[in-house]
Amino acid sequence: MMSWEKNVRKVVPYVAGEQPKNPNIIKLNTNECPYPPAPGVGAALHGFDCSILKRYPDPDAALLVEALARRHGLSPKQVFVGVGSDDVLAMAFMTFFQSGKPILFPDITYSFYDVWADLYQIPYECQPLDEYFCIRKEDYFKENGGIIIANPNAPTGVLAQVSVLEEIIKANPDSVVIIDEAYVDFGGESCAGLINQYENLLVTQTFSKSRSLAGLRIGYAMGSEKLIHYLNDVKFSFNSYTMNAVTIAAGIASVEDEAYLQDTVAKVVRTRERVKKELSDLGFIFPDTMTNFIFAAHETVPAQEIFEALRTNGIYVRYWNKPRISNYLRISIGTDEEMDKLISFLKDYFGSCYTGGQKG
Ligand code: PMP
Repeated sequence: MMSWEKNVRKVVPYVAGEQPKNPNIIKLNTNECPYPPAPGVGAALHGFDCSILKRYPDPDAALLVEALARRHGLSPKQVFVGVGSDDVLAMAFMTFFQSGKPILFPDITYSFYDVWADLYQIPYECQPLDEYFCIRKEDYFKENGGIIIANPNAPTGVLAQVSVLEEIIKANPDSVVIIDEAYVDFGGESCAGLINQYENLLVTQTFSKSRSLAGLRIGYAMGSEKLIHYLNDVKFSFNSYTMNAVTIAAGIASVEDEAYLQDTVAKVVRTRERVKKELSDLGFIFPDTMTNFIFAAHETVPAQEIFEALRTNGIYVRYWNKPRISNYLRISIGTDEEMDKLISFLKDYFGSCYTGGQKG
């Protein structure tokens, strides 16, 4: 190895779900929303005054922060925006998990958490979910350098009650507790209502799922003024202009159309509920989900085989060959038409499995 290479920070990066170039792929692998963003987003982009781009954007993204603060009944000093919640969470790891003590998160959760911990050299201890993929609150009642819990969890889809999370937040006044609510709009209760009570609580949300804006990259954190102040100090020590002017304008338009958000969520939930029934009729078992995806194992056919068969036939879902979850597929909820194609393919596939085909 060359001498300089010894001094490189070596990390194993997060592997994002595939973004296929072929538009005919039925893409159920990265939990995007199948519907377009609110009409106001397109209008904001079409009407965007490009002469503004000669200037730097507002480093505080104040208008977007204010729109989000209004929507959540918070003060703008309690809101922080970033380039997707990945950016916000990475910043929060860097800002709040500095004690040298291990941070805690579930053994099955968003696979970026251990990557950020390794990147920032933060020790961590994974806490095993129970057999139903639920968190055991007692696991979080010990000394730690911080806690992060996705709620609903990914990739399981399982929702924890706010009352359980509140016990964890309350039991840890010496740590920052982050609740990652990327999927909360699809049926979960947010912990944002606890922010004024607990100075150590940071709640993150995203525009990538329920707001159909994964391609725009907006995420945000809500917390006490103190937490947000510390986050901003780190952000401004890193890059003042994380939010570009176009994104800020389009993001505001999305926040201003609450009715469209609720309509979109209702459509996804309606499709999810019927697909749950159909998957279960096909022999899949899964924990109940409060998200825009279903984390399902089949009674007889190994997940990896189903994954490969789907992939070969142009249907992409997500599969991880990892302990405890290697027999599960994470299937995002697409349009009704896309889900019909999925179900119809699976019916044929299992039909051939059960009638003496080689996979049965
Ligand atoms: N948290 C969880 C649990 C997620 O699944 C995702 C999406 N991959 C994110 C955060 C990040 O989403 P984004 O950066 O698009 O806001």
